[in-house]
Formats: sequence, structure tokens, C-alpha cells
Amino acid sequence: MSFQSQYLLSVYQAVCQRNAGEPEFLQAVQEVLESLEPVVNKRPDLVKAGIIERLVEPERMIQFRVSWVDDKGEVRVNRGWRVQYNSAIGPYKGGLRLHPSVNASILKFLGFEQTFKNSLTGLPIGGAKGGADFNSRDKSEGEVMRFCQSFATELTKHIGADTDVPAGDIGVGPREIGFMFGQYKRLSNEFTGTFTGKSLYSGGSWVRKEATGYGLCYFAQEMLSHIKQDSFEGKTVVVSGSGNVAIYASEKAAQLGAKVVAMSDSDGYIYDENGIDLEVVKQIKEVERGRIKSYAERVPGAVYTPGCGEIWSVKCDVALPCATQNEINGEQAQQLVNNGVSVVAEGANMPCTPEAVEIFRANHVLFSPGKASNAGGVAVSSLEMCQNSMRYSWSFEEVDAKLKWIMANIFHNAYQASEEFDHKGDLVIGANIAGFLKVAEAMKWQGVAY
Ligand code: NDP
Repeated sequence: MSFQSQYLLSVYQAVCQRNAGEPEFLQAVQEVLESLEPVVNKRPDLVKAGIIERLVEPERMIQFRVSWVDDKGEVRVNRGWRVQYNSAIGPYKGGLRLHPSVNASILKFLGFEQTFKNSLTGLPIGGAKGGADFNSRDKSEGEVMRFCQSFATELTKHIGADTDVPAGDIGVGPREIGFMFGQYKRLSNEFTGTFTGKSLYSGGSWVRKEATGYGLCYFAQEMLSHIKQDSFEGKTVVVSGSGNVAIYASEKAAQLGAKVVAMSDSDGYIYDENGIDLEVVKQIKEVERGRIKSYAERVPGAVYTPGCGEIWSVKCDVALPCATQNEINGEQAQQLVNNGVSVVAEGANMPCTPEAVEIFRANHVLFSPGKASNAGGVAVSSLEMCQNSMRYSWSFEEVDAKLKWIMANIFHNAYQASEEFDHKGDLVIGANIAGFLKVAEAMKWQGVAY
């Protein structure tokens, strides 16, 4: 731990005591607090207002039972949550994750990160996250529907277009959002933009499906161009995962002139030296809901290797981790550096461990934290809310242009904050400070409830 400020150290120690046994949440809090050292020195008014002590505690956390009936007629029980983390700058906003690993620590870490990410977009949205320890991988369509309906029955009591607007995340795509939105609409008897990531037939926005992956590449392109006068053109790229973020990051990277040579899922990775054929990946993942392994069975010359972590041994110029938290550790980061990586842009939330981030920094790799570079998804979600409120819809080109502009703005705001607070070019510090300051000013302005 490297706190120079006694004040920040004591805040962090109190967080550790209060949240013992929640390693992901503690990791995210530590990383943000370490970045705030320069703010604490320059802004004693924010310290006096207790902003940091308040920000390390979610405003509200709801835990609930989700019971449903499987195809054999047996009753099943899962645990669901909604973490309404911070509403200083707008209604709670953040995705729902359905994965067996989901627990309170992971959702608190994601809600905390989401608060700063949403602030960075410049749009009026607070931070939230939710989900359940449900594994849809071995479930039928009917089982997924009944689970989602039961989950949404409870969630409906806590959400609303001006209160809390959930979206997708791992394990929650358009299918699951559809089942949840349908149930919400039945129970509330209103058609509002209370969920985002909806189908285009039901108030969804163009570019929402592509937003996080496209936004990641727009951000990385701006970073490359501003700092190195470079671009994606001719670069070799490795993308982990093969879900929503990974597929559309790969698509945009290829459109920008790069060659994506490897992708993965939680079982293993594929390597295709000719460049991944994304239509095959989309068929396997989006249509068949199959495993990435089958890519190598369909595309001549492609090779499948079991073990997803091995993907980081593939030589590349640009690495885009788009799967899950802590998927690149120190050893894997060193391997990437030894192989000459020059850009690492996080598409997933916190995919690099603190050791990995340190290695990238020490080796002058251009590094962008997820809360800045993966903010495109929530930015377009916010544009979806806008369109729903107006009962209007923008074209693909209009939304894409807004996304590009928002991502470039996030980069420049983070870069500018890094300069202003004496860490020029350190986007981890810049993004944390820029995201924090807007929320902090709003909290200070709104006063403390005694
Ligand atoms: P999906 O469920 O669509 O895809 C997740 C992908 O990651 C799958 O290919 C999954 O494989 C793979 N994966 C999961 N765990 C591991 C692991 N341990 N090692 C390797 N691969 C793994 O999720 P998304 O694409 O939506 O989300 C990916 C990340 O991006 C998450 O961190 C999410 O929080 C973040 N994010 C998502 C946004 C969005 O708009 N969807 C917005 C901002 C951030 P398998 O099928 O085997 O499980």
C-alpha cells in the first residue's frame, strides 16, 4: 500500500475494517484513493465536507431472494442485488451481471467504479450495479425467462426512469433485458426508458450493442493520436473475451486498419494469424451461444489453446482485455511487455491487477483504465434514456458521432486532469480525479443529511 497522506490511509483502513472479506471492493477503493493524493492537498474543502468518507459507502444496497421453477418443475433459489451507489449527479445507472461468481464485493466494486465512469461521460447519470449468482450457461430459454421475470419482479420496486435505470453486463444481453423489461412493463403499467440496452423494436438505441467496444477503440485511437501521433493502422491486436464488448472492439479495431489475431472465452483462446473472421465469431457466440473452440474447427489455419490466461502470451502491439476483472496479472503483463506491447486499453472493468498496471506504467506502455475507456456503453445508454424521454430516435450515424465525440472528450478531460494535478499522461490518476471532482462538487453542493 502506498499512501503518503495520513488522512487517506485512515479512510482506507476504516474501509478495510468495515468491508472485510470483500477483496474486489477494497482493490477498487485503494486504486481510486491512491489517485486522490494530489486532490487532498489542493482541495481541503472537499476533505472537510467528508466527501471521500461518504463516497466509499454505497447510498443503498438491496439484497433479495430470486425463486423460480426450472424445466423439471423444481424450485430453484438464487440471490439478487441492486447496489444504488451514488446519485449526486443523476439517477442511478449501471448494468446487471448474471454469473455464478457474483457477490456483494463484486457488485460494490462495480457500482463504485460506475460512479466515476458515469461522471467522466459528462452526462447526468449516477452510479449503480446489480445482478445475481445465476448461471445462464446451462439453462434453457424458458428457464432464463422465468429467472429474469422473477428477478425483475423484485427489482421493479426499486427502479424507474428518474430513479434507477439498469442495463446489461456479463450474462445480460438483449434477450435478458427483454425478459426483464417485459416484466417491469407488466407490473408498472407504463412504457418508459427504465431499462437501457432494449431492442430496437422496443425503444432501444442504435449503436447500444456496439457502444462499449466501438467506444473503447475510439478512446484508444484518440490516446494513440494525441500522445504518440499514431493510430490503429497496421497494428496487431489481441482481444480477450468473445462477448458483447470483445466482439465490437474487434470489429472497430479492424475497421480502423488493425489485425485482430486472438480472442477467448473462459475455457481457452483462438489464434488466427490471418486475422479473426468476426462473422464466424458472431455466428458462434451471438447466434449459437457456443464455445470459441469451435472457431478453430471452422476456420482453416486457426489454432485453439485451452486456458484463457494464455492469450497474453500472443505477441501484439495493442492488448484489449474485454472479459472480466483481474484477468491480467503481473506475470502476464510482463509477458506482454517482453513481447513489445505498446498500448493496453481496458474494455472490461478492472481487468488488470494493480501489479499489472504498475508494470505497464514502469515500461511506458500507453494504458487506459476501464472507467475511462469502456464508458461508451453507458454513454449510449444515457443517449437511449434521452431518446426515450423525447419519444424520438436518432439514426445510427447520429449516435455513433455522439459516441465518438464523448470518448474523445473523456480522453482529453482525463489527460487534462493528469496535467493539472502534476501527473501528466497518467490516465489512471487523470480519470480518477476528473471523475471524482464532478461527483464531489455535486455532493458538496447538496449538503450532508444529518
Ligand atoms: P459478456 O457476457 O457478453 O461476455 C463476457 C466474455 O468474457 C465471454 O466471452 C466470457 O466467456 C468471457 N469471460 C468471462 N470470464 C472469463 C475469464 N475468467 N477469462 C476469460 N474470459 C472470460 O459480457 P460483456 O462483454 O458485456 O462484458 C465484459 C466486460 O466488460 C465485463 O467486465 C463488463 O463489466 C465490462 N463492461 C461491459 C459493458 C457492456 O456494455 N456490456 C460496459 C462496460 C463494461 P464465457 O462465455 O466462457 O463465460
